[in-house]
Amino acid sequence: MKLDPEDIKICTSIAAPQGVSEPVPPSITQTSLFTFPTFEKLIEAFGDENSSQLYSRGRNPTVGVLEDKLAKLERGEDCKVFASGMGAISAAFMGLLSAGDHVLFINQIYGPTLQLADHLTRFGVTFDHLSGTDINAVEAALRPETRLIWMESPGTMTFGELDIRAICTLANERHIMTGIDNTWATPLLQKPLTMGVDIVAHSCSKYIGGHSDVVAGALVSHKELIEQIFYRAFLLNGAAIGPWDAWLILRGLRTLPNRLREHEESALAIIDFLSSHPRVAAVHHPATNPAQKTLNQLAGYTGLLSFTIKDARFREVCRFLNALRIFHIGVSWGGFESLALSPNKGHNEADLVEAGVPAGLVRISVGLEGAQALIDDLTQALEQA
Ligand code: PLP
Repeated sequence: MKLDPEDIKICTSIAAPQGVSEPVPPSITQTSLFTFPTFEKLIEAFGDENSSQLYSRGRNPTVGVLEDKLAKLERGEDCKVFASGMGAISAAFMGLLSAGDHVLFINQIYGPTLQLADHLTRFGVTFDHLSGTDINAVEAALRPETRLIWMESPGTMTFGELDIRAICTLANERHIMTGIDNTWATPLLQKPLTMGVDIVAHSCSKYIGGHSDVVAGALVSHKELIEQIFYRAFLLNGAAIGPWDAWLILRGLRTLPNRLREHEESALAIIDFLSSHPRVAAVHHPATNPAQKTLNQLAGYTGLLSFTIKDARFREVCRFLNALRIFHIGVSWGGFESLALSPNKGHNEADLVEAGVPAGLVRISVGLEGAQALIDDLTQALEQA
């Protein structure tokens, strides 16, 4: 893992007003509104709600500290933080798209993002989804009305990587906007804006928060795009995060570099173990992808991966998951605790296999319990699968 020292400084810096002495954490400005010395000053703030402290559904100083740090980490000009990752993704679509626009989704995409695209068809927005990573297929799928290419790289479930720079070149030549869900990599391990992407989305509920105690999201881009999203979607959709939740994310951010180092170390040890296990047919993670090094997009690895239990169907998947003692069974990922689940819920096995997802696929989020304890847990659970 090659972390940029500048990023470590941003994550750990004390964000407090300049003074003689300063508190270490920022203040939690727990207010819904801000009062003004005169009515004229209030009118002035109304005229520039994007940079004024008027009402916390728009701007709040504690949230602002987090927005500033995330913008810097992604090397973007501006950031909006939301009450969830889906709040951020919804605002990007609502703020950037109009009836008649087409969106091309590339790679395995987080399910609710595609469900949202399906809802947008009611408002005249159409979409296509390419689940593979082939650049020629991307070019062939573009239409004259394609307004946005939305990527996820590494992708959800089997973590295939897109050639982000090549896709941005294709898009730029055609004046198509590009967006990416960068949740898996975090801004420390992948900086899509520096590769030509226009807008980056995060679920901060995963590694950025890191403690499974907050749901939050973010968008980072250049000033004009964030301003457009602020007025067209953020203020009106109302998915604003509270200052207390923003403060918890700031607290998580301080240890993000250290946590990522440990997630990577344990994940690589587990990948090694799983890759040579007789009950495991395949391990899915960017570290097992031979094309990964030539793409040169990731500065390291996080700990979300999947693997296929050989010849397993729903019954074996259940036996494996229920036998785990350290890994907890649960949704989400990126916290300190290790988690496991499978997309195979029994009733959908045939659909999964038709979509190319093996029936024995299990996703694990490698936490901070230490590689050996986790390997021991996987060993005994695989024996029972
Ligand atoms: N993007 C990815 C890749 C996710 O895995 C998730 C949640 O699991 C989201 C976005 C949505 O984030 P949130 O749950 O914070 O709304």
